[in-house]
Amino acid sequence: MLPDEPLSPAERVKEESRGLRGDLADQLAAGAGHFSEAGAQLLKFHGTYQQEDRDQRRERRRGGTDAEPAHQFMVRCKLPGGVLTGRQYLVIDELAERYGNGTLRVTTRQGNQFHGVLQGDLKATIRAVNDALVTTLGACGDVVRNVISCPAPAVGGLREEVLAIARRLSDHLLPRTRAYHEIWLDGEPVTGGAGGAGGAGGTAGTEPIYGTRYLPRKFKVAFAFPDDNCCDVHSNDLGFLVVAAGDLLVGFNVLVGGGMGRTHGKEDTYPRLADAVAFARTHEVVEVAEAIVRVQRDHGNRGDRRHARLKYLIDARGLDWFRDQLERELRRPLPPPAPVDVTAIEDHLGWHDQGDGRLFLGVFIENGRIRDDESRRLRSGIRRVVEKLASGVRLTPQQNLLLTDIAERDRRLVERILDDHGVAPHGALSTVRRWSLACPALPTCGLALAEAERALPEVITQLERELAELGVADAALTVRMTGCPNGCARPYTADLAFVGRSLNKYAVFVGGSMLGTRLGSLYADLVPRDRLVAAVRPLFERYRDERRPGERFGDFCDRVGVDALRAGHSVSV
Ligand code: SF4
Repeated sequence: MLPDEPLSPAERVKEESRGLRGDLADQLAAGAGHFSEAGAQLLKFHGTYQQEDRDQRRERRRGGTDAEPAHQFMVRCKLPGGVLTGRQYLVIDELAERYGNGTLRVTTRQGNQFHGVLQGDLKATIRAVNDALVTTLGACGDVVRNVISCPAPAVGGLREEVLAIARRLSDHLLPRTRAYHEIWLDGEPVTGGAGGAGGAGGTAGTEPIYGTRYLPRKFKVAFAFPDDNCCDVHSNDLGFLVVAAGDLLVGFNVLVGGGMGRTHGKEDTYPRLADAVAFARTHEVVEVAEAIVRVQRDHGNRGDRRHARLKYLIDARGLDWFRDQLERELRRPLPPPAPVDVTAIEDHLGWHDQGDGRLFLGVFIENGRIRDDESRRLRSGIRRVVEKLASGVRLTPQQNLLLTDIAERDRRLVERILDDHGVAPHGALSTVRRWSLACPALPTCGLALAEAERALPEVITQLERELAELGVADAALTVRMTGCPNGCARPYTADLAFVGRSLNKYAVFVGGSMLGTRLGSLYADLVPRDRLVAAVRPLFERYRDERRPGERFGDFCDRVGVDALRAGHSVSV
C-alpha cells in the first residue's frame, strides 16, 4: 500500500473501535435483534458473524412482505488443534440445542460453529462457552484465526509435542483487549490463553502485537507433518512443516503466503500455495510467528481488502524482501529451509492406537455437520459415547471427529452405540465421499452464491454411481464444493472442485493434489448443478483408460492438462 493511499472503511472501524469495543455493548443492550454494519464487523473479532436465514429471505420476498430480515448469528469456538474434553463437548452440544439450530458444525479449521443464535441469546451462549473454558475470541476477524495442527493423539510422540506448540502459539497470538470480557463476561477474566485475565497490555488501544488496527485481513496458521498433511499447510498464510530426525523434533520449515480466496472475474485475485522461506528451531516458533505477523501488520495492504492477505504482499514485494523484513524483526538471520516436503496425508478415520494403551476412533462427519435425522442420529450417538465413556473429542481439518481415550475393552461398546444410532463404520464409505468437503454456504453465509453443504451429498451419490459404472470406484480423490470463490473448504487444492458462480451454477476445477501441494486449473465454467457429474464423466473415462499405475485423479488431470482434457468436448470456460 502506498503511504498516501486511503484506508479502507474497515480499517477506520478497527482504528476507532477502542480495542474492539465500538458500541457493541450499547447495541446489545438495545436489543434490536441485530447490530449496525460497523458493529457486525467488530463482532467478528469476538467470534460471531451476523447472518440472515436466506431461505427465509427468499420466502419473504416471494410473499412480497417488507418485514425486517430474520437476523441470526453464527458463533464460532476457537479450538487450537481441535481439542476438547468430553465435558466441553457436551456443553457445546447442549448449547447448540438450547440457543442454536440443534446442529453442531466442525469447520475446516478445527473449530466448532453454532448457527441460528438470536441476538438476545448471544451473551448467554458466549458466556456458557467460556464457562466451559473455551473461547470465541479471535475465531473470526482480522487476527490470527484458529491455529490448526494434526489432532491424532500420540501420547509421548511427536504429534502431541507439535500440538502443544500450536496451542502455545495460539495463546500467544490471542488479542489482549479486555473488550471481550467486558461485553460478554461482565468484565470477568476468560480462561484459556494469554488474552485472558487481562494479559499484558490489556487496555484499550494497547495490543502489543496487533496495534490499534489489528491485521489487514484474517491470518491463518497451520502445523503439519511431511507424512501427514492433514492440515493442508500450504493453504495457510503461515505454515510450520515438521523437520524431524527419527523421533526427535528438530524444528520446522517456515512456509509463508498461502491462501485460497479469489474473486470471480478479478484476475488479480487468486489462490496461492505457501513458499518455504526459512527454517526455525522448535524454541523459535513463537518468536518467528510473531515477527511474521508484525511484518504483515506493518506492510500488508490496508487500502483494498481484496489484496490484503499476506500472499499479495509477498507477490508484490518478493520472497527475498519478505525474508529481509523477517530477519530485521528478529535481528538475526534464519537458516534456509530443510529439504523436507509433504509426501502423504491421513484422515484418521477408524480405530487407532494412541500410544498409551488406549484407542481413538475417527468418525466420519459428512461436511462437518453433526445432526440427527431420520436415518442417522449422529449427534445423539456421539453424545452417548462421550457421556458413557467420558472420552475426549478432537476435531479434524477434514471436518471429522475423533473420540479419544477409549479403553480396548470398550471398543465393542462404542461400535454398538454408534450402530444403534445408525452411524455406519467408515469402511462402508466410498473413497469419494470419505474425502469430500463442503463449506456451509446457503442458507447462512451472506457471501454464498450457490449451495455447497446441502448440495454436495447428492452430487457425491451421483459421482459414486458414475465411478462404479466406469470401474474406477477405487480412485483416490478429494472432491470439494464451496458456495463462492472465497474457498473456505480449500477447493483449489482438491483433485476436483465445484466453486459456486450463481444460484445454480459452478466453476469446475481439476488437477489439484490430494496432498495439498498443487493448485487445480479451471476446467469448465458456469456448469449447472444437475450437469456437474455429466461434465466430469469424460475425464473419468480418460482416467480409466490412460492412468498410470497408482496415479491419483488430480495428478492425472495435471499431467494431461486442461486443454487436452477439454479437446473433443463442448466445455464453456
Ligand atoms: Fe461462505 Fe464462500 Fe466461505 Fe462458502 S466459501 S462459507 S460461501 S464465504
